[in-house]
Amino acid sequence: MKVGPSTGLYDRESEILIMANKGKFYMTTAIAYASGKPHIGNTYEIVLADAIARYKRMEGYDVFFQTGTDEHGQKIEDKATAAGTTPKAFVDQTAGEIKRIWDLMNTSYDKFIRTTDEYHEKQVQKMFRKMYEKGDIYKGSYKGLYCTPCESFWTESQLVDGKCPDCGREVTPAEEEAYFFKMSKYAPRLIDHINSHPKFIQPVSRKNEMMNNFLLPGLQDLCVSRTSFKWGIPVDFDDKHVVYVWLDALTNYITGIGYDADGQSSDLYKKNWPADLHLIGKDIIRFHTIYWPIFLMSLGEELPEQVFGHPWLLTASGKGEGDKMSKSKGNVIYADDLVDMFGVDAVRYFVLHEMPFENDGVISWELMVERMNSDLANTLGNLVNRTIAMTNKYFGGKVKNTGVTGDQAEIDQDLKLVVTGTLDKVAARMKDLRVADALTEIFTLFKRCNKYIDETEPWKLAKDEALKDRLSEVLYNLLSGIQVGATLLKPFMPETCDRILSQIRAEEIPFDELVIWGNYPAENTVTDKPEILFMRMDVKEVLMKVMPEVFEAEAKAEAEKEAKKAAKKAEKEAKKAAKKAEAGASSEITYDDFAKCRFVVGEVLECREVENSNKLLVSQVNVGDKTVQICSGIRAWYSAADMVGKKVMVLLNLKPRRMAGLDSCGMILCAEDKDGNVVLMTPADPSMPAGSEIG
Ligand SMILES: [Zn+2]
Repeated sequence: MKVGPSTGLYDRESEILIMANKGKFYMTTAIAYASGKPHIGNTYEIVLADAIARYKRMEGYDVFFQTGTDEHGQKIEDKATAAGTTPKAFVDQTAGEIKRIWDLMNTSYDKFIRTTDEYHEKQVQKMFRKMYEKGDIYKGSYKGLYCTPCESFWTESQLVDGKCPDCGREVTPAEEEAYFFKMSKYAPRLIDHINSHPKFIQPVSRKNEMMNNFLLPGLQDLCVSRTSFKWGIPVDFDDKHVVYVWLDALTNYITGIGYDADGQSSDLYKKNWPADLHLIGKDIIRFHTIYWPIFLMSLGEELPEQVFGHPWLLTASGKGEGDKMSKSKGNVIYADDLVDMFGVDAVRYFVLHEMPFENDGVISWELMVERMNSDLANTLGNLVNRTIAMTNKYFGGKVKNTGVTGDQAEIDQDLKLVVTGTLDKVAARMKDLRVADALTEIFTLFKRCNKYIDETEPWKLAKDEALKDRLSEVLYNLLSGIQVGATLLKPFMPETCDRILSQIRAEEIPFDELVIWGNYPAENTVTDKPEILFMRMDVKEVLMKVMPEVFEAEAKAEAEKEAKKAAKKAEKEAKKAAKKAEAGASSEITYDDFAKCRFVVGEVLECREVENSNKLLVSQVNVGDKTVQICSGIRAWYSAADMVGKKVMVLLNLKPRRMAGLDSCGMILCAEDKDGNVVLMTPADPSMPAGSEIG
């Protein structure tokens, strides 16, 4: 069933023929600097570019998508030396690693250019000569602050505390012979171009930055050669110079498709230049929107249609803000580690979805797990899985569109409008390269389908044989929605699209038919063995796998903290128990406990008041074989004189304690009544000699 305009849905069949071939689309990423393994922050761009390239192909463009590696310069020369290898062997290895990661991320580039490619090197030499002969390049001298051990020139603003930012040593003013490009010559033409081509620099905020900070204040000539290092493309007519950075790197965009400075450019070049899109990081937008177009003007070539400066993907700093990834900070996340844990498409989804259009995005293992669980496992995975399971359970895997809506015609209509309206929304977002927003639109479709399940409650329909046709219609609608969503997902998550379609046994819907309802083949049979698309994951488990050392350290610290806490608690309890035992007169004791107490008859030989105390008397008591000093709080009832010569009952083996600065060894027993009156316990017969045992 195809719903036509009468139902409020689009019918663009008439437009399909016109849209079939939209012409060429040449797009590039920046070339990656081959100084080491790229982290996910450097890998983001190729994934973003790939989503755009795949989408453009789906839209009907004849796309040529180029990426590659920037392989010259002093940093690479230094790194190679440090690694005990040649620069070429070094970049062969790193460029291989970069390409491996681009492939791992399932990116569909058509050309991977290396600036060490023979064709590129030859063309750079030709372009340099052409610009020189034209008078755009001239020989001068490069003045700067030079660090001799580092063999590097620095500008005043690059210095750190007035010293070399690399090694911290003193720098000295120095001059080096160098070639320069006359940037200022082309500045007025470039300003004109930028003003008359509003799409040239995107997002537009970056355009203002370029104009106000660089172009309008006046352009400096650019140094385009160096003699202080060797690892570069030699200037062919003055070979102590190598071509410096930007003239070598930026020109890859034309040499990669066969530009020839002598006018023998390839058909591929003639077809594809000017580029439709240079996708680059926001940090190098100046070089792409000022130097690059000026080089092209000098060569007499057309300027690219658009330079888009994307934001960065940062790692979570723990303070809720982003932090640039760097090895020295130890916060680097690599694409292959993420892929090992989550799979390629989940990583693609994350980086594409989490990158806002202009602001930097943030990645962390925790955020990755969160997205995996909420968007991929719950919203998408669950929808597909439930729908297939119900189709199998209620209809043996085969449903048809019966057209039965029951009393839910409006709900069905809303679902269809959302599903068939998604393409236009995605297209509008992609036109502005708002890739994250485009993905959000597709997930809105999946969410609508999930809501449809809640609204129609298929498990209730299944209970009534009379509602069987309605149930079939509901499941058919869900399968149709999933087919559209999966097709739209293709540029962003190509494998997931294939996995979903193979489970519902359907094909991708041709681009222009995505706006038409009911492409799902009626009475198709879905798989009877649905596979889980995305596994729910546990943050702790993931972290334990990816950073066991951190986890072990944390666990150890936690265990130590727990042990300390337990020890403190035990100590507290022991104290409490001791106190209780001391005060425990009212509780029963054993005979053995009692036998431990040694009570004897004592005779007070001397007694005096204790200074600094108005309660205590201190007595010297003969207990038979010795005399002991005992303090007693009885001054309110007995004077010191009263005490002398008295026979008293003494608990002898009490642990000695300090009272008011005096040792007290034992206790003279007294009786105390309810009102607090105290009398000494004395033997009924005072003739009992001191030292007699009481018991
Ligand atoms: Zn230095």
